[in-house]
Amino acid sequence: MKLGLIVTAGGSGKRLGGVIPKQFHTIKNQPIIVLSLENLLNSLKFDVVVVTYPIDYYKLTCELLHEKFPSVEIELVPGGNERFDSVRNALQNQRIQGTDYVFIHDAVRPFVSKELIIRLYENVLKYNAVAPAIKIKDTLKEVDDEGFILKTIDRKQVYAIQTPQAFRTELIISAYEKAISEEQSFTDEAGVVENFGQKVKIIEGDEKNIKITTPDDLLLAMFIFEKY
Ligand code: C5P
Repeated sequence: MKLGLIVTAGGSGKRLGGVIPKQFHTIKNQPIIVLSLENLLNSLKFDVVVVTYPIDYYKLTCELLHEKFPSVEIELVPGGNERFDSVRNALQNQRIQGTDYVFIHDAVRPFVSKELIIRLYENVLKYNAVAPAIKIKDTLKEVDDEGFILKTIDRKQVYAIQTPQAFRTELIISAYEKAISEEQSFTDEAGVVENFGQKVKIIEGDEKNIKITTPDDLLLAMFIFEKY
């Protein structure tokens, strides 16, 4: 059985500020993209590894990854306008298409744990489509365009979804084909599979598996890095 890994690092990461995309910022001298890949590669044996890169950062991505992982064959695929387009490009890779299951992970979630990856692996064999989820602690409200609360949402039924998400490769490819033919775009792969009409199983995520988006996230990331 062949396992594929797609790491999405094709974004320009403007919300974090600074001149370089957030996946290249460092935590204690380690680029975020390197930390993410290191945790993934140390957890499971992936037969095919594809990383999407921001179009202007081919050289930097190439250098960082080949320096840090000289013995791993990593294919670089250009990112698209949206995350959805980057994953679409990666799924068109012939070697990814030859895998049985594929894990898709945001490069900006560097604290992905081995326990989570193994949980995903065990569950994707059973369910074909799995995504980690965490409960929401805050009270959730639906708000109108003027900033007034419309109603309270029952948080028992709402989860925050993380990556990695794992899929039977043929399922995620077919689901992307449908979304593309309908000119639809989604912010995660689970959304693409839902749109395809197949069930996605959620499994327990990890509070530490944060997505680094803002400068505050970067501070929190430094703290997590020191503590764990
Ligand atoms: O922008 P967002 O926070 O949703 O990005 C999540 C991940 O997807 C990041 O690692 C980012 O580099 C990647 N991405 C991508 N291609 C894009 C936009 C985002 O691969 N066009």
